[in-house]
Amino acid sequence: MATKVLVAREPRSVGRSFLLTLPIALWSALMFAPIFREASRPARIAEVMTGIFMVVLFFMMMRTWSTYRWRRWFFVAMGLLFPVGFIHQVMVMRGTMGIPIEEMIAGRTPFCFIPIPLLILPAAFTKTVVFPGSILPNGGMSGGGMAAMVGIWLAITIVVGKGWCSYACFFGGIEEGMAAVPAKAALRKIDSRWRYGPWAVLLAMVLLSLALFEPAYCMWLCPFKAVSEYVAARNAIGMIQNGIFIVLFTALVIALPLLTKKRTQCAFFCPFGAFQSIFNKMSVFQVKIDKTRCTPCVLCQKSCPTMALNDESIAKGETLMSCMKCGACVDACPKDAAVWHIRGTEVAVKPERARLMFLYAAWAMAIMFGGRIIAGGLATILHLFV
Ligand code: SF4
Ligand code: SF4
Repeated sequence: MATKVLVAREPRSVGRSFLLTLPIALWSALMFAPIFREASRPARIAEVMTGIFMVVLFFMMMRTWSTYRWRRWFFVAMGLLFPVGFIHQVMVMRGTMGIPIEEMIAGRTPFCFIPIPLLILPAAFTKTVVFPGSILPNGGMSGGGMAAMVGIWLAITIVVGKGWCSYACFFGGIEEGMAAVPAKAALRKIDSRWRYGPWAVLLAMVLLSLALFEPAYCMWLCPFKAVSEYVAARNAIGMIQNGIFIVLFTALVIALPLLTKKRTQCAFFCPFGAFQSIFNKMSVFQVKIDKTRCTPCVLCQKSCPTMALNDESIAKGETLMSCMKCGACVDACPKDAAVWHIRGTEVAVKPERARLMFLYAAWAMAIMFGGRIIAGGLATILHLFV
């Protein structure tokens, strides 16, 4: 996976980079200021640190022309700090990471975005939401309720499409961090058919959720239950479920990213990733290949953390629908042939303008959504010391 810019390009001047960063700095101040007034001292320090962190990363994206390596700092920080803040909240409110059945019956299970596709068929056929959480805010562990989460998902999806998986998913950063650890992949040959894994899991889980009348993926397969909350293991079935969560987390989120330098859970397993691919066309932003410049050396293909490029797609000048707009291929291309693109415009005409427009939208959302998560996790840690 490429982590450096291979194209020899002079850095942008500090002054121009600063000017381009100014709108993001103002947005960051606007987002954190209202919370700042009411927050405790550790939370205020965490918010200032997060605000500066996000602004500095954007500045570096402007100065170096590189997207992927700076975005990764944010994404990994969000992935590592989400469990810290969430588990702390769960322990304070419930005293355990296991969800007791009474909490489920009372509709107090926290809702994340992953079950969204599992709820559609049962809701369409029976007008029932098969998730044990509340639809509207209830002030409990489910916080803002499912409606708020679905609203956030929809707003971000309309703008960045599958970019959700690079700028908003609060789980993906753990495996992205793992994939960044080794200098080289020990396992390089991966059968391209694994790409269909997320679609197979999505289909199976949608049908199973309808048949069992429960969010089947959350009950049986979600690796991230290992670092958030899980079914309270009161019997053998509960123990089997928790065993599956731990095995999947260890294999897909820790071991395989370390061996392959790929985001293996996202690329080969996550049903939400497949579902999100369907909406990639909603966004006007794309990554494309300028065929007139491409040699093709396939460095972009090698750098892609989710295998969203293959020989055929490069020849066509396209990324596959699973492209999550991380920018690794653009940074890796030695010919400036992998480019940011706005749908409906000519390919490679002002690609930097397309990158800027995409990054303003994606980073504004990253601050609003991910910034809160990072600040929350940091505040939890700072509470121990301040
Ligand atoms: S887009 Fe760039 S990195 Fe990819 S094959 Fe073409 S020249 Fe190589
Ligand atoms: S094809 Fe998409 S997912 Fe793959 S490296 Fe490029 S931007 Fe990232």
